[in-house]
Amino acid sequence: MKRDAKSSAVKRDAATVAVTKRTTQGGAAKRGAAKASAPRGSARRAKMAPPVETLDKLRTIHPDAHCELDHDGPFQLLVATVLSAQTTDVNVNKATPGLFARFPDAESLARVDPKEVEPLVSTLGFFRQKAKSLVGLSKMLVEDFGGKVPRRLDDLVKLPGVGRKTANVVLGVIWNTPEGVVVDTHVQRISQRLGWTKNTDAAKIEQDLMRLIPREQWDPTSHLLIFHGRRICFARKPNCEGCGLSEVCPSAFEAENVGRKPKRDRTAYLQRED
Ligand code: SF4
Repeated sequence: MKRDAKSSAVKRDAATVAVTKRTTQGGAAKRGAAKASAPRGSARRAKMAPPVETLDKLRTIHPDAHCELDHDGPFQLLVATVLSAQTTDVNVNKATPGLFARFPDAESLARVDPKEVEPLVSTLGFFRQKAKSLVGLSKMLVEDFGGKVPRRLDDLVKLPGVGRKTANVVLGVIWNTPEGVVVDTHVQRISQRLGWTKNTDAAKIEQDLMRLIPREQWDPTSHLLIFHGRRICFARKPNCEGCGLSEVCPSAFEAENVGRKPKRDRTAYLQRED
């Protein structure tokens, strides 16, 4: 009886080892096949995915790439972008309908105390700071810009809570006149994976992207990379097998640890410009 039990256990172990071996070999074979299907030489082995060709491919993969912050006009986009710091667009889109119903423009927001705004944005991180920024920027818009959102980066960054990144979102999405490339967490990670930058600092990554990408592509580039990061090139477990860039991406099938951001510093918002 004992011997039978022992022999069954040995058989089970042998079967488990065989299945594990097959699975491991299958995975390796799959990765190998995908790598083998990549063009030999230059493109696959290049240290950098060719920017213009890669953007063309991304346009095919994500033909509907666009800014995912719901808005109607420059003021609402400015407000939504300020609110989006350290939170997701989905969360912002849940909060803004109520906010815009009560305060549809700069004039209405400029008149109130931030305390009145706080309950409408309290689901978002740093909501007290953000409420203060929204009232402050609305006051400045009314007093210095006739209630309208200015179209120059130098003017936009004077507004409370508005830094270069927020300003370029508004300039790019509303007028297609950004003065740089918007670098968020997705743009940062994918730029590193594609070999477009070796930097980890957003300002330096932006400079690298501005050198590599034609100016008229600066705004769409951000949306394409953000779409790709949200749907395919995830921070953890990027879907390289299902990615249309795998033949040109130098990190394909080895990307897990490339471009991962350091642990979040929860005090960072207060030190950030936006
Ligand atoms: S999913 Fe993989 S192949 Fe595609 S861009 Fe990201 S790292 Fe490169």
